[in-house]
Amino acid sequence: MDKLAKASNTIEIIKKYNFTFQKRYGQNFLIDTHVMGKIMDAAGLTCDDYVIEIGPGIGSMTQYLCERAGKVTAVEIDKDLIPILNETLMGYDNVSIINEDILKLDLNEIIMKDNNGKPAKVVANLPYYITTPIIMGLLEGHVPVSSITVMVQKEVADRMQAGPGSKDYGALSLAVNYYSSPHIAANVPPNCFIPRPNVGSAVINLDVYDTPKVMVRDEELMFKLIRAAFNQRRKTLANSISGAMTLDYSKQEVAKGIAALSLPENVRGEALTLEQFALLSDRLSSGRND
Ligand code: SAM
Repeated sequence: MDKLAKASNTIEIIKKYNFTFQKRYGQNFLIDTHVMGKIMDAAGLTCDDYVIEIGPGIGSMTQYLCERAGKVTAVEIDKDLIPILNETLMGYDNVSIINEDILKLDLNEIIMKDNNGKPAKVVANLPYYITTPIIMGLLEGHVPVSSITVMVQKEVADRMQAGPGSKDYGALSLAVNYYSSPHIAANVPPNCFIPRPNVGSAVINLDVYDTPKVMVRDEELMFKLIRAAFNQRRKTLANSISGAMTLDYSKQEVAKGIAALSLPENVRGEALTLEQFALLSDRLSSGRND
């Protein structure tokens, strides 16, 4: 089937339906077949895969997904796109379209119904205004997904992949690394989209672990410590944690925990690995129970 992702085909559909792009829905359609191929390769799809696509738009990426995967569920918020999708995807019998807000949908239930609860792969050119809630919702919500391959803002991809000591390293890097192994598969310039976004983009693949990368006694406490550490990046870790409204540790208690990890007392959060945050969390929680 001729590819909708060719600029001329996308423009033809948009004109035919008199479609108006909605900025509030982050509508920047991908018009580059080469980039589509790269996304498919990064997702490593086979005919055994069940794919969830978030925001199919006019169905350009959905076409590729239908051709490579066994079954596709595409979730689109904009009701004006539904009649377009019904036409552009008419030739495929392995796709279902849901007109819903992805943030309000119970994906666990959909995966249970459509794939007997077996892990899905998520593939999407995401609406950038809700990238973090979508990804964190999938990971923290323990939705059964084996991988997430998505186009995101370049800066967000860099933050997800960053390691200790880099300027991009932060709470998002640690959360993503706790649940998955991230890998940037391609950088994508604004001229690959219509309309052109104001920012650069990147395709990132998150290979989701069966169990989180590190063992920690109190996951909630560890993420509170992480958020506190990066809320005020310029402060020392001891000051950030002891000063956090969400936590109740004295500076002495935190200093003791930091010393037990053989870290300098003036260390900043940005120097700690995920494993070290987990150890600190275990130390602080056991200190309380002694
Ligand atoms: N997949 C298409 C492509 O690659 O050309 C369109 C990608 S466009 C960046 C993002 C899509 O997500 C749009 O179709 C938009 O309407 C849809 N969208 C925005 N917010 C959404 C939400 N909360 N739930 C589901 N879809 C959403």
